[in-house]
Amino acid sequence: MFNFSINPIDLELLTQLHDRYKNCRSGTVASYIPELAKMNPDAFSICIATVDGEMLSVGDDRQLFTIQSISKVFTYGMALEDRGRDMLLSKVGVEPTGDLFNSIIRLDENSKRPDNPMVNAGAIATTNLIQGDTTTDGLGPTATDRLNRILNAFRAYAGRDLYVDSAVFMSERATGHRNRALAHLMRHFEMMDDRIDETLDLYFQQCALLVDCRDLALMAATLANNGINPRSGVRAIESEYVRDLLSVMYTCGMYNFAGEWAYQVGLPGKSGVSGGIIAVVPGKMGIAVFSPPLDVHGNSVRGVKVCEDLSNICKLHLFDRC
Ligand code: GLU
Repeated sequence: MFNFSINPIDLELLTQLHDRYKNCRSGTVASYIPELAKMNPDAFSICIATVDGEMLSVGDDRQLFTIQSISKVFTYGMALEDRGRDMLLSKVGVEPTGDLFNSIIRLDENSKRPDNPMVNAGAIATTNLIQGDTTTDGLGPTATDRLNRILNAFRAYAGRDLYVDSAVFMSERATGHRNRALAHLMRHFEMMDDRIDETLDLYFQQCALLVDCRDLALMAATLANNGINPRSGVRAIESEYVRDLLSVMYTCGMYNFAGEWAYQVGLPGKSGVSGGIIAVVPGKMGIAVFSPPLDVHGNSVRGVKVCEDLSNICKLHLFDRC
């Protein structure tokens, strides 16, 4: 049991929340990536990992699913490490948008930047900036070098090797015309370099990484712990950039529900179309919920409800004690 000033978070509370929402039948499983439509709408888990390395979990916590948009948080961190804040800000803004995540129309009129790294355009531009850990041919990083950079960083956050779900990757690669269009539009405005297909493949692969709810809780706890995985002690991201990730999560992480999320839950959060949500309680813990049916904004219905309840019951809202 963790000590909180208002209400303790223990397994009983997580079990109660799981029981409260497991029969909720609202929402629809994403199907615009054909492989995602195969997900089980009843799969449901809630996990909490603390900065002390403790883990609480209920439900289908070992069920694997693709991380999708939650990956954008972590690749933003990689690009910041590889290129620095000024370069990133010149290519990708940090302004929330009221548009849908895959909106085609928004590049800033003057700067031509996509709004932020949590919408698809911004995430693709961000992945374009990721370098390799090593270069194998002296000519700059290859696609493999860059993929390995991504896999190594995700390994540090999750504390284990993560693998790409090939079926989901191929499914999105074959049908992701909208994302291709975004990339070409950004290339036109020189917000991306010529490696369009390579970058799209990397982006589709990062979205198709398989995680379970426990992995996500630990990845969120790593951010809560200033970039160090609380279980392995391995640093996943330089501490100076953790605040950048949490800031864009707080303002832009929940599609066009970000304002209401900040108001109701009051924590940096990020969701993905496969039904995962992470929330970070800085200095304390990472929260993860997995449940595939999505609301009209593209957020997991049960996931949002659980996070709202947890925040209210345990007084986790960042401004609760101001
Ligand atoms: N791979 C998905 C896409 O680009 C991610 C979307 C999401 O989870 O929001 O459409």
